[in-house]
Amino acid sequence: MRCQRCGEREAVVRVKLPQDQEGTEQILCSVCVKELAKAYQETACPSCGMTRQQLLHLRKVGCATCYSFFKEEVDGMIRQFQHGHTKHYGSRPEEESVEKRLVQQLSRLREQLNRKILSEDYEEAEIIKQQIVNVEEDLRHV
Ligand SMILES: [Zn+2]
Ligand SMILES: [Zn+2]
Repeated sequence: MRCQRCGEREAVVRVKLPQDQEGTEQILCSVCVKELAKAYQETACPSCGMTRQQLLHLRKVGCATCYSFFKEEVDGMIRQFQHGHTKHYGSRPEEESVEKRLVQQLSRLREQLNRKILSEDYEEAEIIKQQIVNVEEDLRHV
């Protein structure tokens, strides 16, 4: 089958071009695919002249028109950004706070243990020692 764009070379790929609003596929030769991809990357904002490639590389828009001109790219970047944030604020601090809480609990128990030993309250000291072992065990699994 011949390339639908140039009609000269043998078609090698079936592509759905991003700029094709209807979402129709084209069957193209390797030369045309490269040309179209390059043209797509180099499409520039009519207002500030920033190309799609620059926008994706810099990960920021050049002007207000870029938002509507490169809508899909900008939407994609915002989604990635938000995803990164949910991850950052969601799971990580929670892990840290559990660990922090256990470490605080551990130092409190060690103080109590010291006091019990100093006051020769060995029965109580044994109970606290066991609690320390438990907390240390929990801490290993955080
Ligand atoms: Zn072609
Ligand atoms: Zn712009």
